Amino acid sequence: MNNPDSVQAQPTAIGVDYFDMPGSDKPYFRCSVRKATISSPACAHMWREAQTAEGLKAERLEVCRLCPIGAAHAGEVVTATSRLFGSMICPRCRRGTTRMINGTRCVSCYNREREFMAGKNAKGTAPVKLGPLYPISVSYMIDGRAQRYSTNLARDLMEPMVSILRATRGNIAFAFLGSYQLRQGRLF
Ligand SMILES: [Zn+2]
Repeated sequence: MNNPDSVQAQPTAIGVDYFDMPGSDKPYFRCSVRKATISSPACAHMWREAQTAEGLKAERLEVCRLCPIGAAHAGEVVTATSRLFGSMICPRCRRGTTRMINGTRCVSCYNREREFMAGKNAKGTAPVKLGPLYPISVSYMIDGRAQRYSTNLARDLMEPMVSILRATRGNIAFAFLGSYQLRQGRLF
């Protein structure tokens, strides 16, 4: 970056062909995603902006956010995040919500959970809307590192998976070890 005379001073991405443009000292390349000819510093700038952009700007830069070429130009590596990351989708009922309890279930699900724990709902009869909750563990990987997530109360396997995707940055892979466990020994 400090040596504008040299194309080699800019970080390069593997598999990308660079060329000069008249009147510019920056290396250019053809971006197949944006279908445009851009300089590698401009690409790096868009990639950096895409990592923290919000709203309309985030939409405009969405194709840059996980681009490995942009990351290489910025001298970084891509950090993949699920589209569920930071979303206000309740992991338990999978409905949109405006308020989450501990980031793991919506207020409605939390109230049903309390009924479930009490063994009865407000009318004094067994709760039927929510269904039973189980202890569930799920194995997964973040950027190749093995992790395990356990919860004492979950409606189904999808629930901890959505919880993880909502709250975790990185390249997440489930089905590591190909298994999950229901500690009470029941499948559903
Ligand atoms: Zn919910």
